[in-house]
Amino acid sequence: MDAGLKRELEAKVTAGERLSREDGVALYECDDLVWLGGLAHQVRTERNGDRVMFNVNRHLNLTNVCSASCAYCSFQRKPGEKDAYTMRIHEAVAKAKEMEGEQLTELHIVNGLHPTLPWKYYPKVLRELKGALPGVNLKAFTATEIQWFEKISGLPADEILDELIDAGLESLTGGGAEIFDWEVRQHIVDHATHWEDWSRIHRLAHGKGLKTPSTMLYGHIEEPRHRVDHVLRLRELQDETGGFQVFIPLRYQHDFVDSADGKIRNRLQARTKMASPAESLKVFAVSRLLFDNVPHVKCFWVMHGLSVAQLSLNFGADDLDGSVVEYKITHDADSYGTPNTMHREDLLNLIWDAGFQPVERNTKYEIVREYDKATPLAQRRSEPQQVWA
Ligand code: SF4
Repeated sequence: MDAGLKRELEAKVTAGERLSREDGVALYECDDLVWLGGLAHQVRTERNGDRVMFNVNRHLNLTNVCSASCAYCSFQRKPGEKDAYTMRIHEAVAKAKEMEGEQLTELHIVNGLHPTLPWKYYPKVLRELKGALPGVNLKAFTATEIQWFEKISGLPADEILDELIDAGLESLTGGGAEIFDWEVRQHIVDHATHWEDWSRIHRLAHGKGLKTPSTMLYGHIEEPRHRVDHVLRLRELQDETGGFQVFIPLRYQHDFVDSADGKIRNRLQARTKMASPAESLKVFAVSRLLFDNVPHVKCFWVMHGLSVAQLSLNFGADDLDGSVVEYKITHDADSYGTPNTMHREDLLNLIWDAGFQPVERNTKYEIVREYDKATPLAQRRSEPQQVWA
């Protein structure tokens, strides 16, 4: 990128002027990572200071049986497959309660599109979970699942959301977004929920007072222009509803041979590479700069590794998810050394080591607790420094 265009974009960002589609594509073409990070960090700091939010949550996948076969998905199993499972309601409650001692504040629940489970199972699970853990927020179901519930129940999403909210639902999850542009989407997504329905369902949820997250799966067969288009669609919807709390770039991951059956489920694997750490940091920075009306940008550390998660805090991200037990959707057999679980203490140290102030939040981004600011590295040099995977 030439110096003139850099100055022009800096001026726009500093004046709080909205960046265009062309600006977004130009930012992706720029390989000056330090400059990109600096610009995104300026925006992130204006919005969120040196605070990094995190939550203590547990991921819960009620079933891995799915009627769809998305090309990138290593989670789904077909009925009868050896390690296909579906939890009974009491099993789901028992799993959730395993983490009670960690004072978790959120259950994050996403599932396969089970072909025969009745619709009533889902509000019933929420009701039982809420009864067992009344202080825990329930963030559950992707827009794809809500549309699936429409299909299996014959009810409109409006009524489905009302019933789920009555049972304890406090937020949808952001999944099912992947990349909205059909040019890419037709090759990676096998379920029926595309932009029109994904946005319809989040709009409906926002209209009912729910705040929801938004996501983007990047680093597979998409080009930078598809990422820009994806964010601009979300930005426009956010102008309309104001219901997105956070944007979460999710790094597409390769699968590994499943030890249970010797299979690799990711059908994109042979023709894709995963995004490098530098590319991931660029995605965080450009997303923060383009998505000017979303309060937070989150790094889901499970899909990026802990080192990139720390660095992302200087590239526009101000939020880390979470404790995460058993994340499986794109991470079913991880061999990168990234753990499945981070406890509260681990997250605090990760954030302090990166030089930021940790702030624990709940699903609604209400503050649970503010922690001390980071001790400057110069004062900590004599201590052994942790190396994060
Ligand atoms: S991504 Fe979701 S809908 Fe697609 S195959 Fe996997 S579990 Fe099913």
